[in-house]
Amino acid sequence: MQPLYEGKAKRLYTTQEQDVLRIVYKDEATAFNGEKKAEFAGKGELNNRLTSHFFEVLEAADIPTHFIERISEREQLVRRVTIIPLEVVVRNVVAGSLSKRLGIEEGTVLETPIVEFYYKDDSLGDPLVTRAHINLLKISTTEELDLLEQEANRVNAVLRPYFDEKGITLVDFKLEYGKTPTGEILLADEISPDTCRLWDKETGDHLDKDVFRRNIGSLIDTYQTLFNRLGGNTQ
Ligand code: UDP
Repeated sequence: MQPLYEGKAKRLYTTQEQDVLRIVYKDEATAFNGEKKAEFAGKGELNNRLTSHFFEVLEAADIPTHFIERISEREQLVRRVTIIPLEVVVRNVVAGSLSKRLGIEEGTVLETPIVEFYYKDDSLGDPLVTRAHINLLKISTTEELDLLEQEANRVNAVLRPYFDEKGITLVDFKLEYGKTPTGEILLADEISPDTCRLWDKETGDHLDKDVFRRNIGSLIDTYQTLFNRLGGNTQ
């Protein structure tokens, strides 16, 4: 079938069904807007399994997602959507760019989760944008942004306790949303250790892509550890 799009971590193909796409997870990891790159044998399989599992957890909590099914080690079927060019970041604990931008120590627990929007544009380096900027760029209406924020908070309300029960703090994560041809808004893209910060509650160990970004451990060993920590659920 036709290749439709190739991103940093996935390839997207059409299928015989107009409204269904096939995603293939790659072994490549990138950081810092693609400046740092490496291949890790087995990463695609782990992220496919983990993302599929998280989408199933969310679907079970009545959160609409693009996910249909995982069909092989590296592949899943999803509903076709047009991605809204916003990264919706939810934060429970200060880390990464928030810590740098506001000078607040990493690890500071937020009283209330924060939702931020970043404009998905590699040439601009995915800048943080306000609602006024989003309106100016004609990306989404105020009503749509209210919905995205509400939906992102719902995802957090499901995933934060899910990880907590497994001894893991969901520090922050990035979501992307898409629109079906009929205008329905669905959670899309992926949820994986590439797009979340996950810290071991006891040791503070990073169970996410920060091990690669910060050169503090083996990415595959870390993702495999996370996979094992989530138990048979991901099989
Ligand atoms: N994130 C992502 N893709 C991006 C930028 C961020 O998946 O292009 C995720 C990242 O893994 C983290 C959260 O969004 O879980 C917040 O990232 P932050 O803004 O702190 O940026 P970073 O420090 O990763 O550059």
